Amino acid sequence: MREPAATAPDVCSAKGCPAPATWALLWNNPALHTPERRKVWLACDEHRSSLSDFLGARSFLKDVEPHPEPAG
Ligand SMILES: [Zn+2]
Repeated sequence: MREPAATAPDVCSAKGCPAPATWALLWNNPALHTPERRKVWLACDEHRSSLSDFLGARSFLKDVEPHPEPAG
């Protein structure tokens, strides 16, 4: 086992997926969170649609943004 590099990319939130995240899914569960609150799931290209479908089906999904955010 190697130490993770300090520059290691964030990893997809899908269970068991080791891929670097390229998307951030911003969501809110109104039963648990105040309206301004945003939870973040990270997703690779492959899991972006399944994770956003999961959140969207529950009306939790608020935004999908590139991750990491482009500099500047
Ligand atoms: Zn993934």
